[in-house]
Amino acid sequence: MKYRLYAPGPTPVPEDVLTEMAKPILHHRTPAAEKIIEEVREGLKWIFQTKEEVLILAASGTGAMEGSVTNLLSKKDHALVIDGGKFGERWWKILKAHGIEHDVIKVEWGKAVNADLVAQKLQSQDYRAVYMQASETSTGVAHPVKQIADIVKGYPNTALVVDGITAVGVVNLPMDSWGIDILVSGSQKAFQLPPGLAFAALSQKAWGMVEKSDLPKFYFNFKSEKKNILLNTTAYTPAISLVAGLRLVLQNLKKEGLENIFKRHEKMAQAVRSAAVAIGLKLYAPESPSAAVTAIYGPSGIDTGQIVKTLRIDFNMTIANGQDDAKGKIFRIGHLGYYDAMDMITVWSAIEMALTKLGYKFEKGKGVAKMMEILM
Ligand SMILES: *Cc1c(COP(=O)(O)O)cnc(C)c1O
Repeated sequence: MKYRLYAPGPTPVPEDVLTEMAKPILHHRTPAAEKIIEEVREGLKWIFQTKEEVLILAASGTGAMEGSVTNLLSKKDHALVIDGGKFGERWWKILKAHGIEHDVIKVEWGKAVNADLVAQKLQSQDYRAVYMQASETSTGVAHPVKQIADIVKGYPNTALVVDGITAVGVVNLPMDSWGIDILVSGSQKAFQLPPGLAFAALSQKAWGMVEKSDLPKFYFNFKSEKKNILLNTTAYTPAISLVAGLRLVLQNLKKEGLENIFKRHEKMAQAVRSAAVAIGLKLYAPESPSAAVTAIYGPSGIDTGQIVKTLRIDFNMTIANGQDDAKGKIFRIGHLGYYDAMDMITVWSAIEMALTKLGYKFEKGKGVAKMMEILM
């Protein structure tokens, strides 16, 4: 059976990119490698919608998250975290690990944060930074980044740090025009690459704070990465084969165009949501759904682990279960990165077959029919 991956990261890698990455290893201190990084720099600025440099780190996405704490903040700073799921949780866990005082706005899973709460918090305390997700992958929720950016803009000494790991290259998230101060992402999501690269872009406001930061840092040192990327290189050995793959991905995405990329993701997301509703399932985040991943409640009486398992065994297909309290209650379908309409038809028909096998009563094919309607 052909392996089919529908996780919200890692995601499939296109064949031309796999071939590109299989080429002989290039030494990173050579003109050829510098040429690649020079091109990648421009491409990353384009997809981050920024004129600032986008740093390229050899790490999973969490590396860029940790760097956004240790490079931005100082020991006595106070931070605010929006926590609506596993990745929101990760922000305060990193802050805690570095001994940074922080408050948490706890958001019910499946819901987006109310921006008014952020405004209230900022009025009550002097926070140096607000940490949030654009797309909370564990719940399939899109948080209102623009609204929050508009609020944080009123505080010249407060930075907005956005985890865009399942949002950059999926939805419109214009870093400069919205006023995001740090935007981070990672290779194994919408960038159509294997895990191994993390990205971070910083506004002038954030770079100003970096100058004053007194937290210990060594490997994730944004200042030295910036100095190096301006010379088309990195401070340490880059994951050069992935960077070569990234050049091709960015070329391909540029041909598609930002608007088309956003439209493609929104259409696939709509197709999946509508198919679920068409066969009587409930969406986990109906009010503010992410275009990167759709979280769906399993039918009552069916543990969603059984759906995940049936897809794996019967179809060699990977989808994701819920996490923590949502484990067994929801299943998640990733549709960010190298996917198109037919991929959605494929995964949804497998889900309908699995649900039928597990005893759920519904009109078989109704979800697929709904998808066909939307995708045509
Ligand atoms: C995948 C992901 C991350 C990063 O996780 P890593 O395993 O470190 O790559 C962070 N935030 C979100 C929202 C994600 O989806």
